[in-house]
Amino acid sequence: MKVLEPSQKENTPKMKAKTFQVGGYDQGIDMLIDQFQHYLPEGDRCYSCIHCRANLASHNDLISKSFQGSQGKAYLFNSVVNVGCGPAEERILLTGAHTVADIYCECCKTTLGWKYEHAYESSQKYKEGKFIIELAHMVKDNGWEGSDEKRKSIS
Ligand SMILES: [Zn+2]
Repeated sequence: MKVLEPSQKENTPKMKAKTFQVGGYDQGIDMLIDQFQHYLPEGDRCYSCIHCRANLASHNDLISKSFQGSQGKAYLFNSVVNVGCGPAEERILLTGAHTVADIYCECCKTTLGWKYEHAYESSQKYKEGKFIIELAHMVKDNGWEGSDEKRKSIS
């Protein structure tokens, strides 16, 4: 005996759900959160946030490794990504008076280091507009020797 279904058919559009085309690429993962985080060029050696793995800076933008932060070694960068800036304030550093602003990871809000807004000593002017990130908050990503998977396929 056939039971006829009550016509509960609402307007259910069949093709409503958008399907995202992921795949077909070996490394097609990075398109998922593209709109949320900045990504440095693939394959570039870069530094990422040790807490949330957001890209922070490219190795190409590294100016100096000989800086000292409150938690040890710190690097000076030309430019950074995924980084927010706190209010600027005057501080007396080892190299004289500077106007600096704390910088933090925009993804996990961890304070990473500081930005030099202004340097008073002429010998320190080169640091203006540059960023310090403490080594304790960074991890190396992409293309570093030994950790690059692409190297395995090269015989
Ligand atoms: Zn982070």
